Amino acid sequence: MHDLIYFDNAATTRVSKRVLDAMLPFFGEQYFNPSSAYSASAPVKEAINKAALQVAAAIGADPSEIYFTSCATESNNWVFRLLRDGDHFITTRIEHASVLNTAKQLEKNGFSVTWLGVDAEGRVSPDELRAAIKENTKLVSVMYTNNETGVVQPINELAAICKEKGIVFHTDAVQAVGNVEINVKEQNINLLSLTGHKFHAPKGVGVLYLQKGIFVPNLLFGGEQGRGKRAGTENVANVVGLGQALEDAVAEMQEKNAALAEIRELLLAGVMQIPKVRFNGSHHHNMPHILNFSFAGVEGEGILLHLAMNNICCSSGSACTSGSLEPSHVLMAMGLDHVLAQGSLRVSLSKYNTKQEVVYFLEILKQTITKLRQMSPIWQAD
Ligand SMILES: *Cc1c(COP(=O)(O)O)cnc(C)c1O
Repeated sequence: MHDLIYFDNAATTRVSKRVLDAMLPFFGEQYFNPSSAYSASAPVKEAINKAALQVAAAIGADPSEIYFTSCATESNNWVFRLLRDGDHFITTRIEHASVLNTAKQLEKNGFSVTWLGVDAEGRVSPDELRAAIKENTKLVSVMYTNNETGVVQPINELAAICKEKGIVFHTDAVQAVGNVEINVKEQNINLLSLTGHKFHAPKGVGVLYLQKGIFVPNLLFGGEQGRGKRAGTENVANVVGLGQALEDAVAEMQEKNAALAEIRELLLAGVMQIPKVRFNGSHHHNMPHILNFSFAGVEGEGILLHLAMNNICCSSGSACTSGSLEPSHVLMAMGLDHVLAQGSLRVSLSKYNTKQEVVYFLEILKQTITKLRQMSPIWQAD
């Protein structure tokens, strides 16, 4: 059996050695509460300040605009608290569940929402955004990079429209930070969500960048942590890990992206040799670390099972909702039919993946698709 091949880095990533080393002291001798008055607490408080500086530097923000949360889901939920009765907001059909389901709940509660669609490549149109804006539009939330396809949205154009109209612009940048250069000031981004575990920090720590001057109500009432807006004793070790991981990700970005581009090319060329395969994404507007394919005549779940038997971890575009297999909302929004949207496979890479892994993966994938098609009642080769 081949060593485990982990191609599911859009779901989560491995904590790097450097990040773990940076965190360890805060489980040991540096256990003090960062808010305490005695001098033993000072280095702990200092470590949190350093992490805020690291995050701020990575996205072009001021450290006073960085709020640590428990995850990007929390950051995304928090953003929508800025809405008041009577406000209209705009988001897309391809958002992560943490935005999608928050928006759906608000819609149920009586808020008016416009859901933007995407083209066949998975991109939102700035013209459609402009046309959707109303008198009472308060917030626009569009993800930076889609987590199923890796497709990058025209963030600068969308944010510029919002700036012109005086509307708050939020982006879920979870799959973009550490993969693309971001400068919230130059890009006119008012609010941005990110999470550590997608770039080699641990699970359970995220950030909301909240631009000074934008009012978002407090999320958690309590002490003075998070400037009183997001109270609760900081998850110090995780915060330290996130800061270190993001600094590393930005420092390594160019080299990593160059290496991933080569791996991606090999993977893409190999998969496209399989008959009746569809590449679900954009060739020009993508992050190199996510690829998505549909195979006619086979279901995503079947592919995953076969890959798993060969020690390969991937994911399907479709989410398993309460036992029933729903086709991916992202692929459906891109115009795929139900059947193709269920036959999808997401491959997501990290700096730890190699070309050798891709070669082995392609061999197994080709066998898998052939086998599944032979068994499939709906498959027709011509
Ligand atoms: C993973 C992910 C999230 C959720 O992050 P958590 O920290 O697990 O809550 C949100 N948005 C996107 C695009 C993601 O990929």
